[in-house]
Amino acid sequence: MKKKFDYIICGAGLSGLIMLNKILNEPIFNDKKILVIEKDLSHKKNKTWCFWEKKQTNWDNFVIKSWNNIIFKTSDFHNEIELEKYCYKMIKSKSLFTEIIKKVQDKNNFTIVEDDILELTENSNDVYVKTKHNEYFGKTVFSSIFDINEIKEKIKLPLLLQHFKGWTIKTEEFFFNDKKATIMDFSIEQKNETRFFYVLPINKKEALIEFTIFSKNILDKEEYNQELKKYISSIGIKKYEVTTEETGVIPMTCHPFENSNSKRIIKIGTAGGWTKPSSGYTFKFVEKNIDRLISLIKNDKKIKRTKLKTRHWIYDLIFLDVLYHNNEMGEKLFGKMFSKNKTECIFKFLDNESSLFEDFKIFTSFPKSIFIKSLIKNLGKIISNY
Ligand SMILES: Cc1cc2nc3c(=O)[nH]c(=O)nc-3n(C[C@H](O)[C@H](O)[C@H](O)COP(=O)(O)OP(=O)(O)OC[C@H]3O[C@@H](n4cnc5c(N)ncnc54)[C@H](O)[C@@H]3O)c2cc1C
Repeated sequence: MKKKFDYIICGAGLSGLIMLNKILNEPIFNDKKILVIEKDLSHKKNKTWCFWEKKQTNWDNFVIKSWNNIIFKTSDFHNEIELEKYCYKMIKSKSLFTEIIKKVQDKNNFTIVEDDILELTENSNDVYVKTKHNEYFGKTVFSSIFDINEIKEKIKLPLLLQHFKGWTIKTEEFFFNDKKATIMDFSIEQKNETRFFYVLPINKKEALIEFTIFSKNILDKEEYNQELKKYISSIGIKKYEVTTEETGVIPMTCHPFENSNSKRIIKIGTAGGWTKPSSGYTFKFVEKNIDRLISLIKNDKKIKRTKLKTRHWIYDLIFLDVLYHNNEMGEKLFGKMFSKNKTECIFKFLDNESSLFEDFKIFTSFPKSIFIKSLIKNLGKIISNY
């Protein structure tokens, strides 16, 4: 017998979970058969997700730490900012996963399976989903399955990788000021790339310390460890224990991922291009895009175009083009941005919520000639992709 569903959600990571949470609260899905396929239901990769937010969010119960004071540093600039409107928040993915999956398991119209998806094929009436152990059919499929190596060749716009390794460390003595989060510390050797650390103290003895690079290629595994050790020692920590580690590679590109959506297969999350190209932040964009997607479904509208391009897409394209061709300029560019603008205005800008006046102010902080040259060079791409 064919296993048929109205909706199949491929992947229960960030976007799959946020989508499930939204669907659970929407009565129009109560009579729909929904299948979730996830290859790791034990959720071994307990990721750290951070975001800034002005108001209370649906996720505040999951926030394990939040900061009202943030630090930004380059080799010649140090700024400590007390946030007035925003708060920088941290969530561990496992808690969100456990809570949402439990709610889903309690519902009769949902099925969850642990399996590896091998193939999605769209037919005229449904989508065939082949997994390692089974096969399913769905009228509509939402997929967050993504492998940058599979699409690298297709990307014609500048592509940088945001690659990182983070250690949560515990010190013997009180060391951290857990009221302050360092969101970018560029005061390290840049090695002709864009390199920084962030330090997110959870309490006075424990912090997530992450080494992040925006560049064309990832490093050898050992180099991340060496840089982490060097940085931890440079800030004065002698004795510590590494309790957990996390690594990641996030694509930074304005590539129109959403063009690969079809009538019945919709890409969500990073796969759908919901990652902010110039920062790699995804959490809040997932929430916004899911809200839009569910509203389209509720109003019986076409859902192929999940993502709306805004003028911020053009800014991301120009910024990434400059950084791609001048990878060593990251420290200078972010330094100019943070030294000449209010941090809360930068947050608004990075959330694609700034006004034209605020955009203008931020862009005039950057070296003008290089940005104007990039704009002129990319006019054709902007017109054809926008
Ligand atoms: C370690 C890390 C930290 C990050 N921190 C932040 C942050 O602080 N703030 C922020 O905004 N963004 C952050 N990001 C970026 C982004 O938010 C995350 O990558 C986010 O998880 C992307 O959500 P997603 O749904 O697109 O993909 P994922 O969360 O990766 O979800 C994809 C899911 O699909 C499953 N899957 C994959 N292949 C298959 C298959 N073949 N069959 C079945 N299931 C499959 C995976 O197991 C996974 O659960 C981080 C990324 C990483 C890697």
